[in-house]
Amino acid sequence: MSSVLSLARPDILELQPYQHASWDPSLERMHANEMPWRAQGDNTGAGLNRYPEPQPRALVERMARLYGVPASRILVGRGSDEAIDLLVRAFCRAGADGVVICPPTFGFYKVAARIQGAAVTEVPLRDDGFRLDTPGVIEAGRRAKIVFLCSPNNPTGNLLDEADLIETCRALAGSALLCVDEAYLEFSGRPSLAARLDGLPNLVILRTLSKAYALAGARCGTLVASEEIVGLLKRIIPPYAIPSSTVEEVLKLTEAPQRAIATERIRTILAERETMRTRLAAMPGVERVFPSDANFLLVRCRDARRVLEAGKSVGLLVRDFSSAPRLEGCLRITIGTPEQNARLLAALERT
Ligand code: PMP
Repeated sequence: MSSVLSLARPDILELQPYQHASWDPSLERMHANEMPWRAQGDNTGAGLNRYPEPQPRALVERMARLYGVPASRILVGRGSDEAIDLLVRAFCRAGADGVVICPPTFGFYKVAARIQGAAVTEVPLRDDGFRLDTPGVIEAGRRAKIVFLCSPNNPTGNLLDEADLIETCRALAGSALLCVDEAYLEFSGRPSLAARLDGLPNLVILRTLSKAYALAGARCGTLVASEEIVGLLKRIIPPYAIPSSTVEEVLKLTEAPQRAIATERIRTILAERETMRTRLAAMPGVERVFPSDANFLLVRCRDARRVLEAGKSVGLLVRDFSSAPRLEGCLRITIGTPEQNARLLAALERT
């Protein structure tokens, strides 16, 4: 067994996976207890009367091309949320193992761990620009099974230093996985850490179509890792995780023309982010706008409630983090259309 799989739960390694109906499109299906006819009005290509392919080949190959990695290193799931859940289930024994998180960060890592009964150790990001406390993470990671890091980080917006990530990953080889969540990477202009997978067997990368590709409703996330880790997670992902209608939509909406539009829109978001940053920073009610490599800005306000209300008064909702530890007075503003951004700025400038 490779050293990375020796970190997994022994009972999961021994688990006899669910045997789903075999997939052979060359034969007519009388083996899966499906209805032989489509539902009235079902115009989908595959027919919703049929169970989907477990890891749809075409989708896996599309994601492999999109993220520049071999198809064998890819697991697709219902959003990267599902990948987070699967990792915790596969590697953490309830009541015995744990994960490390670096708050303030994305909330679901902790929730997924708690659902599994895994301990959560917090190693806060540093006060100087929400950078990683690398020695602290390495020390805590040696006693855990997974370290979750988010780069660019939600909700602070900053990228974590690549050298820190690689140092952490190397130091944890043989003791824990390093999961780097790159949900917002497309807004940073930086390459994915997935290019470094060859030398880092305990590295796991998460990507998603929910942000830059405007497909949050499709629920399509991708985990990129070694073939061993992908193979293990395939054993525990629910049998027909990705609906065939989602596969069809995602294949259609990630073709070259859509990708070109996504690139163009990312440019618009980045230009708008800069305008928002400058205008917000000049407002007397704003204490600080944190640097961002993502499609949102974290803003510390003198009176967060007033700013929240001013947004609502013009029909716009921003996210309130003002009562979260170390985010006192902070709001997270997602960059919207130029019209929405202008409407919000005008309302805030009036308060
Ligand atoms: N990771 C981060 C950092 C996120 O902010 C989010 C969504 N807010 C997710 C993962 C989950 O994304 P998905 O839609 O792919 O499940």
